[in-house]
Amino acid sequence: ISQQMMAGQNVTTEDIKSARKRAEENQHLSMLESRKQLPIYAYREVLLQAVRDHQVIIMVGETGSGKTTQVPQYLHEVGYSEMGMIGCTQPRRVAAMSVAARVAHEMNTKLGNEVGYSIRFEDCTSEKTKIKYMTDGMLLREFLTEPDLKSYSCMIIDEAHERTLSTDILFGLIKDISRYREDLKIIIASATLDAEKFSEYFDNAPIVKIPGRMFPVDILYTRAPEADYLDAAIVTVLQIHITQPPGDILVFLTGQEEIETAEELLLFRTRGLGSRIRELLIRPIYATLPSERQAQVFEVTPPNSRKVVIGTNIAETSLTIPGICYVIDAGFCKQTNYNPQTGMESLLVTPISQAMANQRAGRAGRTQPGKCFRLYTAWSYKHELDETTIPEIQRTNLGTVVLLMKSLGINDLLHFDFMDPPPEKSLIRALEQLYALGALNDRGELTKLGRRMAEFPLDPMMSKALLASEKYGVSEEVMTVCAMLSVNNTIFYRPKDKAVHADNARLNFARGGGGDHICLLNVYNQWVETNYSTQWTYENFVVMRALKTARDIREQLAGLCDRVEIEKTSNPHNTEGVRKAMCAGFFYNTAKLDSSGAYKTVKQKHTVHIHPSSCLVKLEEMPRWVLYHELAFTSKEYMRQVAPIKAEWLTEIAPHYYKTKDVEDSTTKKMPKLTGRF
Ligand code: ADP
Ligand code: MG
Repeated sequence: ISQQMMAGQNVTTEDIKSARKRAEENQHLSMLESRKQLPIYAYREVLLQAVRDHQVIIMVGETGSGKTTQVPQYLHEVGYSEMGMIGCTQPRRVAAMSVAARVAHEMNTKLGNEVGYSIRFEDCTSEKTKIKYMTDGMLLREFLTEPDLKSYSCMIIDEAHERTLSTDILFGLIKDISRYREDLKIIIASATLDAEKFSEYFDNAPIVKIPGRMFPVDILYTRAPEADYLDAAIVTVLQIHITQPPGDILVFLTGQEEIETAEELLLFRTRGLGSRIRELLIRPIYATLPSERQAQVFEVTPPNSRKVVIGTNIAETSLTIPGICYVIDAGFCKQTNYNPQTGMESLLVTPISQAMANQRAGRAGRTQPGKCFRLYTAWSYKHELDETTIPEIQRTNLGTVVLLMKSLGINDLLHFDFMDPPPEKSLIRALEQLYALGALNDRGELTKLGRRMAEFPLDPMMSKALLASEKYGVSEEVMTVCAMLSVNNTIFYRPKDKAVHADNARLNFARGGGGDHICLLNVYNQWVETNYSTQWTYENFVVMRALKTARDIREQLAGLCDRVEIEKTSNPHNTEGVRKAMCAGFFYNTAKLDSSGAYKTVKQKHTVHIHPSSCLVKLEEMPRWVLYHELAFTSKEYMRQVAPIKAEWLTEIAPHYYKTKDVEDSTTKKMPKLTGRF
């Protein structure tokens, strides 16, 4: 409108302003209309009545029916927000942010005012906030400062079917406080059929079902197993694009790297298609994607083009992307797996469950009949996929939550009211680990150190490293390392056409041989020295956004360090001190180079490899003893973020875990160069 008016001669800015305002109002009105079209709207009264009549209700409805965006608004509209905030938890950060943005938009307010969100290291709420979306992990931490959640009038535990570790613990805590906070309204929202189980757990709470509008979805399987699902996915996208009627495509892959590869391959292969084929808009979506690019998946596809969204299981139930008619399901997702026997946790590409496969297929039939292409065989679906996904609590390291629960005063963990209890071995392992870290005493009670560790929203190993840094006089440095490690492996980029330059830039940061932790420290410090120069980040192939995130995280860690009275000390040249502090936290994650040239974890003798992205890969001689930040399994079991250490540190720093025989090293003498070097 304003452009048309600009073309005219005698238009005042006032006219333009009021036209713009009218356009915005119209847009807002049509949004209000579309709110009424959602399946949940017909159930508004039923829902509100159930909330009035009961303290806890279970709400079940197909993805896209309006549970997440509408229900908090309904509760707000009828006045619950006058008694306290309306909270809504999400298992994923991206979902919390994007849903909050959507609802702020629907309510015509600025994000962070009436509608806000809170995720780890980022609080976008204010005094005015009435509706607060947050990750389940953040609500868990809120129990530390507000054990009765008194600032809330309603709490929605959303995406309950995902059964994340935090959500499972929240179930127990919420059930517990519901007994003495009779005014707190609780809604457990789920996209699938576990409703009965939730209801039983919450003392037979009533179930409100929101029937979705579902169109039939044709399921197509591959005839033979696919050797390379990524390639199969690309070929399928192109086939759909060339042969099928209009409609957007949603592809499920497992993670950022895969999605980026798929994006590149698709760009490359569509170039050759010529101008007669419609444009294919490629839109990735995964947790660490910058939010302005995340928003692109929701943009309406322009006529004469087709959108293909390539995402992780984030698009399974927590985000609804309009316009999808075709789903391509590779059949895998990334899952943490934990072996309580060995204490090893790793992120594995794992086959999905039948329940997940069905959710994925459902994404194709929201607005019209659709098709789902499964890149696996019908036999495999039937016989190889588990019926449902195992709850995270049964396949993950419990260190963080056990520390949190101990801080909340829950001492008898074995008898905590879990919906599905974790394996006893995992619990015991977590207790042992916290004992080894010094967070618990030999009676399993929280120590002063443990109390300080619990203040940090970090893995206990990382909190311990921070607390230990004081002793080595390097708390400023370790704070930086922890902040950089918390920015998921996204610090460096490596464009294919400038790979050599990028590698050289990176090698410069690794000079001195301190390994990846020190490399990250050098990057950050140099960026600070250049006064946060953008030019400098370009020249050094460092992702500025990642550094800015690290700076924010660092600031918060600094605040928390003040709170637990960690003295701020700095010595940029004491890289050994930094590595010793890291060792004080991560002494479980150590490996030793054996005579065959392979790394084995020190205690369990499990073969592991240095990840190709590590700066240590470039050394002619590998360090004999290393500490790693985490294990990731792709084609091999890889250690990510690796630092050389000395064997004697282990007995010095963690004497209750390492005995002299563990670190005896008959071959050290044969490799004299190394001792000099590190
Ligand atoms: P549920 O929680 O039941 O899965 P949601 O409340 O998330 O459903 O979504 C309801 C509807 O709101 C979706 O069908 C979609 O049309 C719309 N919607 C949600 N988020 C966005 C967004 N960011 N942009 C555009 N539309 C959205
Ligand atoms: Mg939802």
